[in-house]
Order: sequence, then structure tokens, then C-alpha cells
Amino acid sequence: DGLGSFQNLKHKTPSKGTPQKTKNPEHLRNLLAQRHALPIFPARARLLEELRKNNTVIIIGETGSGKTTQIPQYIHEERLDRKGGICVTQPRRVAAISIAKRVAEEMDTNLGGLVGYSVRFEEAVCPATKVKYVTDGMLLREAISDPLLTRYSWILLDEAHERTINTDVLFGIVKDAQKTRRSLPGHDPLRLLIMSATMDVDHFSQYFGNCPVLYVEGRQHPIEMFYAKKQQEDYVMAAMTTVFQIHREAPPQHDILLFLTGQEEIDSVTTNLRQIAKDGSLAECPRLRVLSLYAALPAHQQLDVFRATAEGERKVIVSTNIAETSITIPGIRYVIDCGRAKVRTYHPGSGFDALKVKKISQAQAWQRAGRAGREASGSCYRAYTRAEFDAMNVNPTPEILRSNLASVMLQLLAMGIKNVVTFDFIDKPSAELLEAAIVQLSFLDAVVIKSDSLELTEAGRKMAQFPLEPRYAKVILSGPEHGCTEEEQAANARRKFTSVEGDHITLLKVFRAFKAAKKNKMWCHENFLNFRNLLYATEVRKQLVQVCERCGVALTSCQQKTDSVRRCLATGLFTSVAELQLDGKYLTLDTKQEAALHPTSALFGGKPAYVLFTELVQTGKAYMHLNSIVDPQWLHDIAPEYFRRKHVKR
Ligand code: ADP
Ligand code: MG
Repeated sequence: DGLGSFQNLKHKTPSKGTPQKTKNPEHLRNLLAQRHALPIFPARARLLEELRKNNTVIIIGETGSGKTTQIPQYIHEERLDRKGGICVTQPRRVAAISIAKRVAEEMDTNLGGLVGYSVRFEEAVCPATKVKYVTDGMLLREAISDPLLTRYSWILLDEAHERTINTDVLFGIVKDAQKTRRSLPGHDPLRLLIMSATMDVDHFSQYFGNCPVLYVEGRQHPIEMFYAKKQQEDYVMAAMTTVFQIHREAPPQHDILLFLTGQEEIDSVTTNLRQIAKDGSLAECPRLRVLSLYAALPAHQQLDVFRATAEGERKVIVSTNIAETSITIPGIRYVIDCGRAKVRTYHPGSGFDALKVKKISQAQAWQRAGRAGREASGSCYRAYTRAEFDAMNVNPTPEILRSNLASVMLQLLAMGIKNVVTFDFIDKPSAELLEAAIVQLSFLDAVVIKSDSLELTEAGRKMAQFPLEPRYAKVILSGPEHGCTEEEQAANARRKFTSVEGDHITLLKVFRAFKAAKKNKMWCHENFLNFRNLLYATEVRKQLVQVCERCGVALTSCQQKTDSVRRCLATGLFTSVAELQLDGKYLTLDTKQEAALHPTSALFGGKPAYVLFTELVQTGKAYMHLNSIVDPQWLHDIAPEYFRRKHVKR
């Protein structure tokens, strides 16, 4: 059943969802008091009444008011989940995991019992799970095998204001499932709750048949706003300077939340802040605890940010936009906003897909500022001028209007939605975007274009089974042809987590060595390798092997012939290749965009003629991450028509 067979990696799943025996009644009383103090608590009765009366309700509440943690508990306490469970979606895996942990604690049960979570490659659920936190991507995947979402009575689409591509598609799917379940005998109604942190929900309400909208009065203390006096050339430096200005003056336990753009930037700022904090001139100041927060961080480190600040201490959290609305950190009195975020942008005309640092919208800027005034009055420092703020977009553009839709389209087709173009999108992507996705899928041999419809091929059906982008699924499917399915999975398993460390074959060697060392922790330590990430890679690989077995993909190994691995990579990623120019620079073949090898790449310094890259990241200059050398002849073998058009010499 789709990915339902994924096993639990971190937690022993209890056989029954029975509550554990309370170890600490004092702690539990304390948690209950906290629950009763949340802004949503006084609205409990009114909320439940609306939920009983209506099949679809929208709820708006300021971040931190208790929507995500409390509403599922209210539904469960009233036993409105007798006939089917409650599924709550989150755009990010960190949020799904940390919130599930918190709710299990509040309900005094084991995680993975009554309360569980399910995110890509990791889950803690059992048949008795009633309250399940999932990423929006996981629910979308579940809908492939169960389009009516029959396991659930309640679907709570959370963080709807973020308008992630998966949530947008889920809007259409749950709306349709609700309608179909109503019309088919023997089905219980599907109840929908759309939760948002921002006010502009007319659009949602219209889309869901003018359903009622409930407002939860938030608790917002006054926030003093500061803008940069002049435009900042170096927002990172400006932000760090501000941290220490605040640190010199503010009383201890008044914590700081600093919004930056991405992992590398955050890691380097965290290191620098820790270094500077040791400076003698700060001896009189509170002790400074510096923590980073971003999606790729291991879960235990993410949970560190919730630990209360000790007496005489101050916490600085350096975060991506994850702390904007998904996660509420107690103790924050100061927010420093760099005014930017890393976003994926796609230009169908050029086929160019990249992570870029971009200005945020005004709505996001207000969300960020709001984090400072949750418990008491606070301050927000914007590393940009008032004029720059005024020039920002009012709202962010929904992701579905600026993304590569190949993955989503493949999933819709696998769900049996024949005419993707007429799908009931809340905001319809442009014909150009839809067209580009169809072209990409046909290049990958996932679909064939018939006169009036799209047909999923056998390969396409298999690709849809993998919890990977179609091009990576294609890489794995091409394994048997080159005798290296096993290696592909290893390389893929590591892709997400070490993309800046080195290249595909390097990673493969690391992975093989790790296995040969019997997954030994000390060995990792001695070799400066991250044990947890490698263990995670082993698990991911195991999951992918299961999908392969289900799809009848033979497991083969190329042993030392690792060029086969690079060949396989090219079958899926052939649109991500750059060519060396006479002047020593690289141009991407697809869009003729200038791109440089990232300094961490094993190929950095060399000048191979053709380089395949896994990701293009734009931070001023465009850098290719995780690269492999490819042979132009392979490219012609893989996609002859495409490369003839790109004028690649053999
Ligand atoms: P909303 O969804 O409305 O933004 P939440 O339900 O996520 O609000 O959070 C409600 C409150 O629960 C937060 O303000 C925070 O104080 C507390 N909380 C949530 N998760 C945790 C956690 N992991 N540790 C400690 N407190 C938490
Ligand atoms: Mg929430």
C-alpha cells in the first residue's frame, strides 16, 4: 500500500496504542496548565460546535495560539474520531516530527501509539494511531493508492497560507474525495479543516463552497520596529552586529531569533557567533547559547531549540523561515530579519530550476516580526530599509505558480486523474508550466503523448512509486541496464544530506566503506564522517530496495565499474549538464546559464569537458553542487533528440 510499509526507524512502535503509565504527575499537571493558557482554549466549545455543524471549516489563528497541537486533541477528546483517524499535514518534516512528540507528551502516551508521525523515509505509527502528523508530500503519496483517503475522518491541512505545491494539490484532492465520499453509499463523510496563520482566506473559503471561517483571537504584545537606516550591502554582517548590540544591553533570558536563508549561511554564522561570544569584552554579558535550525538538521538537534534558557543565559536561534509559522519557540523577545529566504524558482521557458536567495514578502516579514511579541512586548530589527520593505510583494507567490510540475503531474496521473490540465487547482499554473512538465516527463519516458490525452507508461507507473523526483526515480530504474541498482540507491540515499560534501562516486565509496566497517560509530568519528547521516542513508536505501522489489526492478551491482553509476545518473539528470567553454567557464546546456563548480566539489580545480550537477544553487553566482564527469556520447545515447537540439558534439 504505497509507502505504508515503511518501518519505524527511531522509535519502537508499541503493539497497541495504550497510554503509557504516567511517570510524573507533576509534569503532566504543568503541561495541562500550559494547554489551558493557550489562546485557542477559550474557543474550544465554539470550535467544536462549528466542526459538528460543517464538513469544511477554515480556522485562522496567530502563530503559537495552539491550532496545530490542540485542535486534533479536542477532536479526539470528543471522540469525533471514532470512525476514522485524524491526519494533520505540515509543509516540513521537522514540524511534523517535533509537534507529534509534543502532542504525545501532552496526551501522556508513547509516540508511535495513539499519536504518531509519518514523513519521507521515517515514521512512527501503528494501527491504533488516531492523531497522525504527516508532511503534505506523504499524504499526497498516500492518495495514489487511496484517492478517497478512507483511513481518515478528518484531514487538517495546516499552514495553508504557505501555499506549498503539495498543499495546493491536496486542496483539489481532498475536495474531490469529500464530494465522492458523500455521493457513495457506505462511506463516512470526510471532514476538512483548513488552518492558516494569515487573514486573507477569502480565496480558500470561495474554493471550498463558501465554508465558514473561524478566527481565534491571538495574543500579540506590542513590538517595536527598527529598520536599517541605509541599504545593507552585507545583510549577514549587519545581522551579526545587531545580535551583539542586543546581547550587550538586553537582560538574560531575553532570547534572540535570527532569520537567515539557508544551511551553509546558518552554519557559518552560528560558528562565528560562538567564536565572538568568547571575546573578553563580553564577559559581563549573559552566557550565549547559539543554536541553528533548518530542515536538514537531525531531529534531536532541532528539538534543542525548545529547551528553556537557563538563568543567566541567553539563547540565539539562527533559523531559516521554518520558524516563521511552523514552529513556535518560547522565550523570544528579539527578532532580527534579514529580509530574504531561499526559494526554489523555475522558469519553464528556459527549463531552469534553481534555489535562489530572494526577498521575502511583506506578509512573511510581519510573521517574522510577530515571533518577538508572543509572551511579552518585544523588538524586531529589519536588516533592510523602510523603502525596501515597501517595495516587497504583499504576499508570496504560491509555489505551484513557480515550480517544476513534473513530480506533481506524475502523481496525479498515477492517481488516475487523466486530464491534469482540467484539475481543480485553487490557482491554476500557467499552460507553459504544465506544458514544460509534460515535455520533461516524456523525455524521461514516463508518459506518452496521445492526441487528446496523456498515458502513463509502465516506467512512469514505477517512477510514481518512488518517494523521489521523477528524474531520480529514473536513475534507479536504469540501474539493471547498467548493472548497478545497488550503487544508485547508495548515491541517492546520501544525496539530500551531504550534497555539499563531495560527489556521487566519492559518496558511494564512503557508503561502501561504512558498510565494510560494519556501520561502526567510532570508524565514522575517526574518518570525520557523520554517523547519523550514514545510518539514515542505510535506512533510506533499505526503503528504496523495498520499492524496487515491489516494482520488479532487479538488484544488481557493478562492483568497481563505477562509470556505470555515472551513466545511470545521466539517464535521469541529463538536463542538468554543463559544458566547459573556451574561456574556462561552464555554461549549462539546457539554458546557457553560467555556473561554477562549487569549491567543495571533488572536481573543483579540474576542467572536465562535461559535468553533471545535482543541484544549482544561486547565491549571487550560480554554483553546481554534487557533480560527476559525463561522456558526451552517453548523452546522445540517452536523449538523442534533446542533445541534437543542444548542439552537443560527440
Ligand atoms: P499554532 O499551530 O497555532 O502556531 P501550536 O499548536 O504549534 O500553535 O503551538 C502552541 C504552543 O505550544 C506554542 O506556543 C508553544 O509554546 C507550545 N509548543 C509547541 N511545540 C512545543 C515543543 N516541542 N516544546 C515546547 N513547547 C511547544
Ligand atoms: Mg501551527
